[in-house]
Amino acid sequence: SVTIDGLHKSYGSLDVLKGISLDVQPGEVVCLIGPSGSGKSTLLRCVNLLETPQRGRIQIGDVEVTDPDVDIDAVRRRVGMVFQQFNLFPNMSVLKNLTVAQRKVLGRSESAARQTALHNLERVGLADKADSAPAQLSGGQQQRVAIARALSMDPELMLFDEPTSALDPETVGDVLSIMRDLAKEGMTMLVVTHEMAFARDVADRVVFMDGGVVVEEGLARDVIGAPQHQRTQTFLSRVL
Ligand code: ATP
Ligand code: MG
Repeated sequence: SVTIDGLHKSYGSLDVLKGISLDVQPGEVVCLIGPSGSGKSTLLRCVNLLETPQRGRIQIGDVEVTDPDVDIDAVRRRVGMVFQQFNLFPNMSVLKNLTVAQRKVLGRSESAARQTALHNLERVGLADKADSAPAQLSGGQQQRVAIARALSMDPELMLFDEPTSALDPETVGDVLSIMRDLAKEGMTMLVVTHEMAFARDVADRVVFMDGGVVVEEGLARDVIGAPQHQRTQTFLSRVL
């Protein structure tokens, strides 16, 4: 599970997160929605220690992420992240992309890392692409590789930051369906998305952020189907 409590993050005089509190329970899928610039990516980046918040706490399982003495590898072992831009290593084969962190961070043997990698490539339907270079794959396939790479670390939490926003429309569905499968398998997921149908159908809860605060949160069908706040209504009327 993840617990975020009173999180503040600013860049110079720009307050981006103004006291965010939210939690994701084990096996839960929480979708984070909100307008551009509301702080969604910054929040995810704080959870993964890509950014350091000024105030507040983040706890993942028994690891206090915001402890100044935290072991970064302990966090990276628990959290998988998938970005809008897939961030695959361009000079490595697909297989190597999946084994390198397993070797370095988890200390797995080459053969164990390889076995896990192939299993996860199979999960995303790309076992036949193990020896390809990322550039030889479509955007949707690259994103599926990025998901398989994150899964190969056996994370207890998966963060997704608009994983389908950079994709051609015809490949979006493949990526969403893999995320659906993950949700069904009980993966704990925090997902920033503009795909409202996905949020409505797959999320257990939806959190609407605006201006660095959580404006509204609740069951997906309530927040998307019957938003209570004017700002949520305005946002949804624009994206639906
Ligand atoms: P989008 O939907 O467009 O991805 P977002 O909700 O993810 O938006 P963030 O990327 O978290 O928004 O950005 C929130 C605010 O913080 C924006 O005003 C952005 O310009 C600012 N910001 C983000 N990263 C930095 C940075 N490294 N330095 C300075 N300002 C930043
Ligand atoms: Mg963003």
